[in-house]
Amino acid sequence: MGSALLDQVKPLIGRSAPFHTAPDPVNLPMARHWCDVIDDRNPVYTDEAFAEASVFHGLVAPPAMLDVWDKPGLQMARDPDNPQSAALTLLEAQGFTSTVAVNSDLEHDRYLRPGELVHSTLTLEDVSDEKQTALGAGHFVTSRISYFVGADKVGSVLFRVLKFRPGTGRAQAPSAAPGAGPDPDPAKRPRPAINRDNQFFWDGARAHELRIQTCANCDATYFPPSPRCWTCGSMELRWVVASGRGSLYSWAAPHHPQAAGFRYPVLVGLVALEEGTRLISNIVGCEKEDLRVGMPLELTWLDSHPAVVEGATDSRGPVSLPQFRPARQPRREATLAVNEVTGDDELPLCPVPITTTLVAGGALMTRDWFDAHHDRDMALARGSRDVFMNIHTTIGLVQRYVSDWAGPEAQWKAIRVRLGAPNYPGDTMTLRGAVRAADPSTGAVTVAFRGSNSIGDHATGTAELLLPGTGAA
Ligand code: ZN
Repeated sequence: MGSALLDQVKPLIGRSAPFHTAPDPVNLPMARHWCDVIDDRNPVYTDEAFAEASVFHGLVAPPAMLDVWDKPGLQMARDPDNPQSAALTLLEAQGFTSTVAVNSDLEHDRYLRPGELVHSTLTLEDVSDEKQTALGAGHFVTSRISYFVGADKVGSVLFRVLKFRPGTGRAQAPSAAPGAGPDPDPAKRPRPAINRDNQFFWDGARAHELRIQTCANCDATYFPPSPRCWTCGSMELRWVVASGRGSLYSWAAPHHPQAAGFRYPVLVGLVALEEGTRLISNIVGCEKEDLRVGMPLELTWLDSHPAVVEGATDSRGPVSLPQFRPARQPRREATLAVNEVTGDDELPLCPVPITTTLVAGGALMTRDWFDAHHDRDMALARGSRDVFMNIHTTIGLVQRYVSDWAGPEAQWKAIRVRLGAPNYPGDTMTLRGAVRAADPSTGAVTVAFRGSNSIGDHATGTAELLLPGTGAA
């Protein structure tokens, strides 16, 4: 860092802010809104009777909300006595105006409960020298915030942000680089040949209904559409709307020749639908290494050919294509026991569709008013391609993922997250995890997780929790 800046910032390192008290006690309405946005259905947060009978003996707040309760509101000015705020202000004055969160490590001494008033103090742990990063030249600012209820320490958060100079990073969008292969725009794919026999199928696709033909005579179900039943030859045919649930029967990853309209590597799966037939489709939202024969899949749609092309309505009409991604698994209702876990267990994959609603709602339900998380115009003005997910929402989604695998009475000790590629609306983040350690004598389990999107790894890290010693049965 420049020596003048160094002289001003270095004395702030090691300093602590005055205690800051949350505006409201921990409360069920905020927890309920948070659970709604994150889609976390763990009943220990919202169902009083369930929570009372659980290991928690009453309602508890989602641990990922530890650093939400005392957050300043939209109109709150920066506190000049806060060394982190002072360091950020000094860096901004030197042109390091862009901010991204890069690490957040939450450690829990105990859970918070409704009615408790949180107060906190922040210590500025470090401001790095200037580093060249993919985003730009900047400084990492690391703080530790300790949370208390009265004199009782409930947890802490290590929080690291990168303050960088906009426009000094490496060029984005490596897929647009010359020589990266054919144009991946899905509108470049050949259009389907639509005729009287398959019109119902393509009409259904436009309405995002996967219509599967069945025979009125023998009840056979088959794909692709045909003018006559494949089994009995009857011409009395109907269709049903498939549930969209299936499993992977087989797959391939063709490399050559590469065709326009596809982003490589492309995964092609033979999908066994629960209606009893199979169809060939693209498998999306995961990597080749994630594929397992028999893995559960769910339907998603690609609107490949738009209704309007170059300002004019395409008389051939829009096209939508069915695709499949790993299926989100239901929440476990009876908590896993530590003796049911082994050190190499894999968690099931979980897709998280990233929508503007999730990004904006997640930011507001974690009381993070930074404009680029909810205001697209401001995000564009800051050089982002769209609003992007905040780290608190990411932590909430990871916690939901691991809790849904472990069960409602798993007790969180820590979650450590490192952020990478941003989560933008329209993308899908796929979460995967694996057990790294399980100690039967203490119940302590460590899970490594990774959430990836079409750009790369959005979040990597570890979760530490306690599981009961023996199964509920
Ligand atoms: Zn038939």
